[in-house]
Amino acid sequence: MKICTIIGARPQFIKAAVVSRVIEETEGVSETLIHTGQHFDANMSDVFFEELNIRKPDHQLKIGGGTHGQNTGRMIEAIEAVLIREKPDWVLVYGDTDSTLAGTLAAVKLHIPIAHVEAGLRSYNRRMPEEINRVLTDHAANLLFAPTDTAVHNLNIEGIDSAKVHQVGDVMYDATLYYRKSAKRPSSIGVIAEGFILCTIHRAENTDDLSRLTRILDGLNVIAKEHTIILPVHPRTAGVIKKMPSLQLNKNIKIIDPVGFLEMHWLLQKCSVVMTDSGGVQKEAFFHRKPCITLRDETEWVELVDAGVNILAAPGTADIVAALKSMIGLEIDEKLNLYGDGQTGKRLLEIIMVNK
Ligand code: UDP
Repeated sequence: MKICTIIGARPQFIKAAVVSRVIEETEGVSETLIHTGQHFDANMSDVFFEELNIRKPDHQLKIGGGTHGQNTGRMIEAIEAVLIREKPDWVLVYGDTDSTLAGTLAAVKLHIPIAHVEAGLRSYNRRMPEEINRVLTDHAANLLFAPTDTAVHNLNIEGIDSAKVHQVGDVMYDATLYYRKSAKRPSSIGVIAEGFILCTIHRAENTDDLSRLTRILDGLNVIAKEHTIILPVHPRTAGVIKKMPSLQLNKNIKIIDPVGFLEMHWLLQKCSVVMTDSGGVQKEAFFHRKPCITLRDETEWVELVDAGVNILAAPGTADIVAALKSMIGLEIDEKLNLYGDGQTGKRLLEIIMVNK
């Protein structure tokens, strides 16, 4: 059986690393890897292939840097050409990026079955590009791998055939268990005491709205009077910050380039609290038993909020400062398990193989 995996953005490299390793270890299945080029910088792409030992993509499409419509359209055309040549039995897509949607649309029209990893996530905010990508992908997919009960429920209420839906746990938990022992200190942080705050900001809803971003940064400035904040900055956010000439950040906010996955896990291990608008980082904070403040109005990972380990802070300066006060020092139960048993990659490949 031949699987064609389509990836293009940082979180997809991490998720695919887990499943690709299982594919390599399994007899009777081979993988063709397409990298769309959505993320192309060395520290947003190459470092993950090196550190996570992902093999070189078979097809590098080099499509990035355009608008959503330009990228998605060009990706569909290029992926279609590869799929016609490669004739895979399954197409495997991850998450919710433009690469996910483009791979799905190319495959579905060629009648190639699609398996969607991280199916059923919903923010119910249709202004998020990711939300549109997820909904359309879920409705076209033949196998939907949902990480949580809530994700299964979301698919049920949209009328998706429950025979296609499998709750398998979360591949990011597999990734954390596998790579956490290799965590390494980022060379870019200099001398720093443990217990800092780790922060990431990259969602378009925060970076494309200057007033929201300003309120978040004002909140960080208040917090930085008492705490060191490490901010590995996503290229999209870096681009916006550069265009804010009057912005003055407290010297306790250490802005660094994006770090590799192993360095990110060192930061997650050593921090006291995580502040983020990332989906993946919210879960990783929990895997490392660190309280998390989500810099958004809603989250797809509602079970973290229900469990009291994650709190939403709408980007108002006072909300962010109050959220930190309420979360800092929170002890998280080691036994709390929300995302499976770390065998999600293996389980989902078994399901694909019995459906061939
Ligand atoms: N990540 C990383 N380096 C960084 C920031 C994030 O390796 O500088 C990892 C993080 O540990 C997580 C993933 O990137 O595994 C999350 O990706 P991102 O926040 O870009 O996307 P999202 O999860 O929101 O889709």
